[in-house]
Amino acid sequence: MSLPYPPFKPCPCGSGRSYGACCGPRHAGERPAETPEALMRSRYTAYFLRDTGYVRRTWHPDTCPSDLNLDAENTCYTGLTIHRAEGDEVEFTATFRADGRAGRMRERSHFARVEEAWVYVDGEVRGG
Ligand SMILES: [Zn+2]
Repeated sequence: MSLPYPPFKPCPCGSGRSYGACCGPRHAGERPAETPEALMRSRYTAYFLRDTGYVRRTWHPDTCPSDLNLDAENTCYTGLTIHRAEGDEVEFTATFRADGRAGRMRERSHFARVEEAWVYVDGEVRGG
């Protein structure tokens, strides 16, 4: 398995597990996310790693932006907190640095199952 991040290091999603036991196998296409929360975590880590392909593959085809390109971003993600995961919704806060300044974004995301796999549909930004 070839991974874009050292498998023994703590996973960037903050699960407390190593990348190789958490989001890594999902990025490698070896283990689909079992729950919306697991998908949310793996998408956060994909943003962290600027893995545009994974973010795109796990986005509902009807809502995925056609111009998505994480390489063009200057945002560095610094942390993820899951506040609530219930049914097909996950509410989280992601912290980041952009242009040398710290920021945070809180969002309630909606997920759906497409052909047995969870995908991200859309989200409402909650402020603060
Ligand atoms: Zn993870």
